[in-house]
Amino acid sequence: MIVPATADTDLTAITENLSRVRERVAAATQRAGRPVGSVTLVAVSKTHPAAAIAGALGCGQMQFGENRVQEAAAKFPALRERHPSLVLHIIGGLQTNKARDAVRLADVIETLDRPRLAAAIADAMVSENRRPSLLVQVNVGDEPQKSGIPTDEADDFIQACQARFGTSLAGLMCIPPAVGDPAPHFAWLAERAARHRLAIVSMGMSGDFETAIAQGATHVRVGSAIFGHRSLA
Ligand SMILES: *Cc1c(COP(=O)(O)O)cnc(C)c1O
Repeated sequence: MIVPATADTDLTAITENLSRVRERVAAATQRAGRPVGSVTLVAVSKTHPAAAIAGALGCGQMQFGENRVQEAAAKFPALRERHPSLVLHIIGGLQTNKARDAVRLADVIETLDRPRLAAAIADAMVSENRRPSLLVQVNVGDEPQKSGIPTDEADDFIQACQARFGTSLAGLMCIPPAVGDPAPHFAWLAERAARHRLAIVSMGMSGDFETAIAQGATHVRVGSAIFGHRSLA
């Protein structure tokens, strides 16, 4: 059960939801025979106000995900001043002309998915003198409407990114198809990350993070199970 977060942010609901999600992450990690604490919970705060994020920060939640750079830029610099250890992940499709803002703002960019974006991020790292960690997003279901590098191009692209970014290329990310069992897609991504010796495997959302942990996720991106349902924009 998800306690809905109402229009005026319900901090009690966020606190309860967060502790429930943490318990579920810990239990799934244990069931997978992995050390508790080895899976990082990224709280996806897109569409939710800064007050909701501040509530989660008050519960010690430090890792957040936003899918739009402009929205992140509006909410996070002020929060970061008060919480210097906050870690911001950009998890939404990134236009090339937003690369510079993303590099300036984010600690992790999870959606590197094409050569032109890699070039723009590389330029931005120089001009901003900042090197966020980067994840390659793979379109694990090879769905035409979805971003992510196609599966048959993934190995070459990952290698090119490792050559270009060195250890800043830290892992892989995916959003599996909405229908069907996500487990084989999660397993595929974890295997690819291991093959390229990449430490981070970002996969699993509110509906499937336990499955993702069972398949080797190191980072799960959970929004509505923490902050309540998003109003449809
Ligand atoms: C919104 C979003 C999430 C979180 O989704 P929930 O179902 O609300 O947990 C995770 N990853 C990405 C890329 C998203 O855009």
